[in-house]
Amino acid sequence: MIGQAKENEADVEERHAFRITVFLVDDQAMIAEAVRRALAEEDLDFYYCQDPTEAVKKALELEPTIILQDLVMPEIDGLTMVRFYRANPTLAQVPIIVLSTKEEPEIKSKAFEYGANDYLVKLPDKVELIARIRYHSRAYINQMERDEAFRALEKSQKELAAANKILEKLSSLDGLTGVPNRRRFDEVLKQEWQRAIRHSTSLSLIMLDIDFFKPYNDTYGHQGGDECLKRVAKALESAARRETDTIARYGGEEFAAILPETGSKGAREVAEALRAVVEEENIPHESSKVSDHVTISVGVATWLPERGSSPEALLGAADEALYKSKENGRNRVTSREVKSD
Ligand code: GH3
Ligand code: MG
Ligand code: MG
Repeated sequence: MIGQAKENEADVEERHAFRITVFLVDDQAMIAEAVRRALAEEDLDFYYCQDPTEAVKKALELEPTIILQDLVMPEIDGLTMVRFYRANPTLAQVPIIVLSTKEEPEIKSKAFEYGANDYLVKLPDKVELIARIRYHSRAYINQMERDEAFRALEKSQKELAAANKILEKLSSLDGLTGVPNRRRFDEVLKQEWQRAIRHSTSLSLIMLDIDFFKPYNDTYGHQGGDECLKRVAKALESAARRETDTIARYGGEEFAAILPETGSKGAREVAEALRAVVEEENIPHESSKVSDHVTISVGVATWLPERGSSPEALLGAADEALYKSKENGRNRVTSREVKSD
């Protein structure tokens, strides 16, 4: 049973493998007949072309693993034919054995110069002819198989890279709201901090938190709370004006915005726009103590390049400003500038 299965596997492999295919180009039918007879008992395919003007076209159809090219022909000489094969991208790598009527060192060296792989004097000994056909064909087939395996590998590597890109994107987004998650936020903040230092530009950070969200959950249920988070995230994203601004879910009912190349005035404007857009969503919130609808408290901090400090200090300042907004009655914006120690 196992033996049978193995045999079948071998069959499949055999069918996929390249087969030795000999293509002879010679104007003399007698030579063709002699070569055909020499190869008759071999496990290979043999094709013959008498007309050299048809040879390239035929070779492209047959895809031979070896070309036997006669040197002296009435219309086109064999050396020119070698150059034709080599100039064709499909045939450029196919091994060529030139067949000459006699040993002529000058022509022989020209043949190799033009790209022939071997040189035989007609009519070659049967054993030698078969050995050379097999040797060159095998080398060519091996190369083709390596190329094919390489292409397959390249293809799967490309597919893997594309899959990784999608995975990377997914792993940087928050599962509930679809906005960048905390992990992504940390990455972007680090990058933007470095960029702000390099280019001496200011960098602003906004932290915001939904007001009375615990009572919201208690009133509308956890699922209701989740829906509210999704709507708030969508609204916030719609209000971020620049491509380079990043809105992220910082955690729980807290969101953050990174605003590159934005000074304190611009950042305050964005913060106010975020506050307003959530208010305008008009999400009913009957247990809020400051409004009939869902509102957010916002803290803004701006780092000015001449003042030193760190991203942690920027985060701390934004958080402090957010706390002030809560303390002063919620549904408002408070801003801070980060000063050096
Ligand atoms: P404040 O106005 O001071 O911010 O009060 P608050 O009630 O919003 O703040 P608190 O920190 O007491 O409560 C936050 C609530 O947010 C508690 C928590 O259960 C809820 N929460 C955090 N993450 C999620 C979530 O993913 N889904 C839902 N539905 N609720 C969440
Ligand atoms: Mg809250
Ligand atoms: Mg909170």
